[in-house]
Amino acid sequence: MKKALIVGGGIGGLSAGVALRMAGLEVDLVELNQEYNVYGVGIIQPSNALRALDTLGLADECIRQGSPYHHFNMGLADGTPIGISGTPGLGHLPAHNGISRRVLHEVIFEGAQKAGVNLRMGLTVTAFDETDEGVSVTFTDGSTNTYDLVVGADGINSRVRQLLFGDVYKPRYTGQSVWRYAFDRIAELDNALMYFGRKTKVGLVPMTHDRMYMFCVTAEGDDFFIPEEQLVPRLKAHLSEYPAPVIANLIDQITDPKLVICRPLETILVPKPWHKGRVLLIGDAVHGTIPQLGQGASLAIEDAVVLGELLGKHDDLETVFAQFMARRFDRCKLVVDVSAQIGEWEQLDWQGKLPEGVNIGRTMGQTLGAMAAPI
Ligand SMILES: Cc1cc2nc3c(=O)[nH]c(=O)nc-3n(C[C@H](O)[C@H](O)[C@H](O)COP(=O)(O)OP(=O)(O)OC[C@H]3O[C@@H](n4cnc5c(N)ncnc54)[C@H](O)[C@@H]3O)c2cc1C
Repeated sequence: MKKALIVGGGIGGLSAGVALRMAGLEVDLVELNQEYNVYGVGIIQPSNALRALDTLGLADECIRQGSPYHHFNMGLADGTPIGISGTPGLGHLPAHNGISRRVLHEVIFEGAQKAGVNLRMGLTVTAFDETDEGVSVTFTDGSTNTYDLVVGADGINSRVRQLLFGDVYKPRYTGQSVWRYAFDRIAELDNALMYFGRKTKVGLVPMTHDRMYMFCVTAEGDDFFIPEEQLVPRLKAHLSEYPAPVIANLIDQITDPKLVICRPLETILVPKPWHKGRVLLIGDAVHGTIPQLGQGASLAIEDAVVLGELLGKHDDLETVFAQFMARRFDRCKLVVDVSAQIGEWEQLDWQGKLPEGVNIGRTMGQTLGAMAAPI
């Protein structure tokens, strides 16, 4: 096993680049975009994401450039506290780190460059051909190359998945959307917080000592494409059901529609196996999850770490792939399924139809606790 190609230079692909270089492989990575345009809101890194990044030597830099915190303070729309939630801290790592997506991307990108990943921007694959020598790959610039292993890390609308399995697996829209906006950090935000309204939930997450971002989860139904001129008024309308001063006092600061990031939430879980021939899929390409547990990127980084570890130990792909599936499938399935379930319960709750006995907070806490298990 000498030479690998990674398709997709997002969080999972770049992490895989570092992990495979640590396992001693030569690594080419192709990224569709000529330049990255990562939006300037943040991402939640629970302790298992930090543990995986630590294996790649990148956790300390994320923590240095981010903002560690212990837990989410949960509350009602008026701010009345109802409990705390989050992942447990692991070893010397904080329980969570909030970080700008742009900064996280830069940290992993620089890690991949330093590790010696050959990064090629503005390029993708058009075909794979399994031969006795390996996978012969044709690129969009007409060039070809042969690899011992190809890793598809090209996100929820994966082209590699389509090339491997056809159009069988497609993401499913869940009915929910997430709105996000970045602000100067307020002094009251010592941890992250999450408040539950009658028709939405809203959260604040620190990104640095002086910046934070807000997320607001809503059910936009089938009307999920929101024209730019409606972004600011509709986000403000959603937030108007929160009398809690930490939220209400921010509403006037939401002025620029270009900085309102609204995304419909989609999910996908490709059944086993996630490989065919010498090609393996990782990250959102096979287990794209909605962010109810803040675990999507964590899982993609964990995939990269486990793959690198297995490639460092075993020469034959059959063993690597079998052990990869044994260690990754159930864990990723748990996150995808529970996140989707929480999303459904939230929507039922907002319609006043939440079944009796359902405890969303407890389900969240139990699943996040399970993420502390070794990978
Ligand atoms: C609203 C929202 C909030 C989220 N919040 C969190 C959070 O707080 N914490 C968390 O852990 N996760 C969160 N996630 C999930 C997280 O963003 C994803 O799970 C993570 O980005 C997946 O990484 P990936 O590398 O698999 O895919 P992506 O990040 O989608 O990266 C795929 C890369 O491949 C490139 N690409 C696409 N097609 C091709 C092609 N054909 N050829 C070459 N390159 C290609 C893309 O340009 C991109 O760079 C959130 C997701 C959403 C939607």
